[in-house]
Amino acid sequence: MPSRQYLDPTDVSTKSGIILAMKRAKTGIEILRIINSVFSTWIYDTAEKFDGSMGAFHNNWKTICKSSGVKPKDIVIVDEIVYYNKDGTQGEFSILLTAMDRLTRFGYCIRAKTDLELCNTCESVAILAKKVHVWMVEKNQRSDKYTGICSHCAGKVATISKLSRPVNNASPLD
Ligand SMILES: [Zn+2]
Repeated sequence: MPSRQYLDPTDVSTKSGIILAMKRAKTGIEILRIINSVFSTWIYDTAEKFDGSMGAFHNNWKTICKSSGVKPKDIVIVDEIVYYNKDGTQGEFSILLTAMDRLTRFGYCIRAKTDLELCNTCESVAILAKKVHVWMVEKNQRSDKYTGICSHCAGKVATISKLSRPVNNASPLD
């Protein structure tokens, strides 16, 4: 169940004003600005891409973008995802649902912070959240340990430490 934190404002004209502004917005950035001014804690982080080990996430995003005729833009990691009612109506979350729909159509991928986090090193790549990663290892869906670092940065770190080792070894003698 979603928390009550992101409910529509009770004032109807405020609500319809915000929705209209989002429908008229010509870019995703505009929508991000609007939603941030309404719910300042909703947008948690943004990432440029998924980690190389997350092909299914990337392909799913690419497919959705293709069907909207747009290129993938950014991954927006949000505090909480809200859902449509079973009958297809937006219920009390029409502002957030409109934002999510519009952003998706502009090429953004919206994911909850319970699923994703940013690489600790480059802070531009989305990796699986620790809980999800550990859960997947338990279910034998992954075998690598959670490090908090994307595979690209992990590769870079390994290369740097390899290169610097002879220098480190030599220094006590100097
Ligand atoms: Zn990284």
